[in-house]
Amino acid sequence: MHTDAVAAGGRGRPAGFLTLAGRPTGIGVLGWSFDALKVVIATPGGRVLAEHAHVVDKNELRIDTAAELLGTVAGQAGYHTTDLACVVLGVPAPYQRGVGAPARRDGFGFAPWLQTDPAAALAAATGIRALLENDANLGALGEYVFGAGRDRHSLIYVKLAEHSVGAGLVINGWLHRGVTGFAGEIAHLQIDDDGPLCACGGRGCLIHRIGPGLLDAAQHAYDQPLTYPRMLAMAADGDTGMARLLHDLGRSVGRPLADACTMLNPEVIVVDGAAGTAGRHIIAGIAEMIDRFAAPPAAAAVTVVPGEAQTDADILGAVALARHEIDLSEIVR
Ligand SMILES: [Zn+2]
Repeated sequence: MHTDAVAAGGRGRPAGFLTLAGRPTGIGVLGWSFDALKVVIATPGGRVLAEHAHVVDKNELRIDTAAELLGTVAGQAGYHTTDLACVVLGVPAPYQRGVGAPARRDGFGFAPWLQTDPAAALAAATGIRALLENDANLGALGEYVFGAGRDRHSLIYVKLAEHSVGAGLVINGWLHRGVTGFAGEIAHLQIDDDGPLCACGGRGCLIHRIGPGLLDAAQHAYDQPLTYPRMLAMAADGDTGMARLLHDLGRSVGRPLADACTMLNPEVIVVDGAAGTAGRHIIAGIAEMIDRFAAPPAAAAVTVVPGEAQTDADILGAVALARHEIDLSEIVR
């Protein structure tokens, strides 16, 4: 995890936050991804004071449970929940403030828990201001403010987790969420004309190339049961087949990113650092497609790099969001 010292080199205002009796302002972060909830108390500089990982239902997050966990972890850091400046909840789905998930239509089957915006319920359950944000958007902010994208003009962040793929766009100095919060949902870019139907209502979406789809592509070639972490470890150790699979995954993501480079002209593409050293194969696949398909001036202007935040980009992004939206200098507890 990055420290305040690292943050001092980044954007924003890393120093000078008001503290009371030597205690820094605390920011509560709930990072929800698939079936895990990371509960973190962090400083405005991105330093983690206490953290806990909790297994949750992948289809629904109970707000009362989340609030209870936040209180427990806050206590470990020496805070009451109401001492915190705010709580930021990262959600693994597109999200629009005041609405929830973007407008649904018949057959649009994801994120039923997000049909109404849960921000008010979270604020009521915790007694503090609650901000919600898409998890890939938080990753983008984390890298932009604290990590590989700091001091860069613009970036596209690619989140690649075991069960999800997404992107966050930082343009003109801040997040571009789109009119309904759907910007960056590269999971639902169509890449297979005759691929399987998707919960989004489309067909052949990129999401079906990861998770079980990625494991299925490899399992028949190996005797031992494969897991995603095992695949990454094998690729990092030089397993040729696994390296090719990840390179091809990078190509699948890279082809639409090449068009995004032509349209948006970003300075850097930051690939989720959670893939570790195996991420170099994914990055190579993305770079290959950008070199091949992006307009040459846009391809020449962009670099593809691994994230610096490893598994904590979303947590750092939540801190960045809190710093951006709340005047922490007025927080006196
Ligand atoms: Zn889809």
